[in-house]
This record gives sequence, C-alpha cells and structure tokens, in this order.
Amino acid sequence: MEKKSDPQHLDVLAFARDAGHLQGEGALADWPRLAEEQHGDTLAAGAVLWQLTGRTLTPSGGADQIWLDLRASVRLPMQCQRCLTPVLDTVEAERSFRFVADEATAAALDDETEEDILVISRDFDALALVEDELILSLPLVPLHEVCPQAVPMSAVDPAFEEAAERPNPFGVLAGLKTGKPG
Ligand SMILES: [Zn+2]
Repeated sequence: MEKKSDPQHLDVLAFARDAGHLQGEGALADWPRLAEEQHGDTLAAGAVLWQLTGRTLTPSGGADQIWLDLRASVRLPMQCQRCLTPVLDTVEAERSFRFVADEATAAALDDETEEDILVISRDFDALALVEDELILSLPLVPLHEVCPQAVPMSAVDPAFEEAAERPNPFGVLAGLKTGKPG
C-alpha cells in the first residue's frame, strides 16, 4: 500500500500537500486501549468511524503549515454513574493538528500557541491518534438521560403500600377452590 494512503504509516507531508482524505471504520477490538473503557457485555459497541484530512495553510508572510484534521466517533457501552448499569454513549472527537519539522520547533511553539503541535513524520500512525483522541473525549461521568430502572421506592410510597395490602388475586382464587361447595 502506498504510504500516503495507509493511515497507520502516513507520510504526513505528502498527505497534506495532496489535500488527502481518508476515512474508514473498524471493530473496537482493534483499538485495545479504547476497548478497555467499555463496560459490561449486555450492550454492543458500535464500529469506530474515523476521517483524516490533510491540508496546507499559508499564513500571510509565513511559510506553509502542514495540518491534519481528525474526526472520529464510536458508540461505546459505559457504566452509568447514577444507576451503575451500562449506558451506550456516542463518543466523538474532532481536532486539528499542526505538524512542524522537529521537536525543538514543537517545544518552542507549544509555549506561544494554543494549537496542537506534532512533529512531522513520513511514517505516522494516525489510527493511534484516533484512539488517543477518542479516549480523551470519553465523558467523565457517563449517565443515562433517563435511567432504565427507577430507584426502588421504599414502603413509604403510598402506592407501594396499597399494592402490598391488596389481597393477592391468586390467593383469593385458591380460597375459593378450597372453600366448601355451596
Ligand atoms: Zn443510569
């Protein structure tokens, strides 16, 4: 496979200069660090969907900049922190990275810009970056919008007491059966 079109061995410079675009999907199991975040086995995780776009940016009076735009999403079962049962949450990541020539440039820029800076590579694993970004995008406190099981109501609930006091219809039936025939 040509390097500039293999997301795990991406030639970042060529990809950006060609305004390259790649997208794909894969099973969660192929991203083991992300897969570790799933909870329970009652809900199935969705596929990991990802998109990569390369571009160059020429600031006025500056040299060409190399950028990579990343988007990714996955439906992941996590543990609801309210009811502790699994909740299927859509985790989405979207971030742009600027690539610079070397570590020294990256370190210098890191202090003066909010941009996410990475060092350029001709053999860059963009799918590992997808995994990193999805892990960073996980909700801190996963919650159902509405939890499936209501918290059990205690006996102070009048409806609950009423139900408890009502004679069991099967008990009534049993009483009729054992009653002496009229
Ligand atoms: Zn819940």
